[in-house]
Amino acid sequence: LVVAENVHKSFGRLEVLKGIDLQVKRGEVMCIIGPSGSGKSTFLRCVNHLEKLSAGRLWVNGELMGYRQKRGKLYELREAEIAAQRSDIGMVFQRFNLFPHLSVVGNIIEAPVQVKRVPKAQATAKALELLERVGLPDKADAYPEQLSGGQQQRVAIARALAMEPSLMLFDEPTSALDPELVGEVLDVMRDLAENGMTMMVVTHEMGFAREVGDSLVFMDDGVVVEAGEPAAVLGNPQHERTRAFLSKVL
Ligand code: ATP
Ligand code: MG
Repeated sequence: LVVAENVHKSFGRLEVLKGIDLQVKRGEVMCIIGPSGSGKSTFLRCVNHLEKLSAGRLWVNGELMGYRQKRGKLYELREAEIAAQRSDIGMVFQRFNLFPHLSVVGNIIEAPVQVKRVPKAQATAKALELLERVGLPDKADAYPEQLSGGQQQRVAIARALAMEPSLMLFDEPTSALDPELVGEVLDVMRDLAENGMTMMVVTHEMGFAREVGDSLVFMDDGVVVEAGEPAAVLGNPQHERTRAFLSKVL
């Protein structure tokens, strides 16, 4: 579903991604770990073209992100066309960034109604279903500030799912949460995974990576140092840099 080929990204003279190659199959859960500053967030942002690649190519669901290919040449897509590509990709960040002035249901139906022109009643019915799914059936009319961090993050997941994406990106979705709230968010993610969602998850939750992940990627300094089955990478790392990192986090 995702193919990254030689993905490079620089900010000015700082080269953050130095040639990332990887593939995520449909239904696969890929977890990405690595030290701070290694380029994990930048890579996720490249996947949905929030960052423009400096070099390389990236496909999601057969679409070359950000470009149209015509007679062997690449043409940049317009912002509206990129937005259409992006609507197939849900993203959940460390900070919940719900719209504070909208109710929970308001947050969830915003994109389907505005972007996909789904009728409001239909979008609302779907939103209530999604709230059930993330364990918040009674919070439809609450406002974000009335919710705990874990509840807000579950609303953020429901909001992303409302667009019926074929891929979900998670950037450290639990690292801003109090420890006792982490589990409820991971449970929702686990349920998504079990229902076949394709997911790329930047996380420090090694237990989640081991139990839910189909693959684990260790990034350092803008490259993929090691990738494979989570149990193998965690239990028998092949590279010194992976071992050094794991010895600090496990
Ligand atoms: P963390 O675990 O702390 O979230 P990360 O692996 O997600 O780290 P990135 O956020 O991708 O790391 O950042 C990688 C490098 O790119 C850092 O040195 C960061 O300062 C730099 N960087 C990220 N975004 C920008 C930007 N918009 N402009 C300039 N530099 C940036
Ligand atoms: Mg990051």
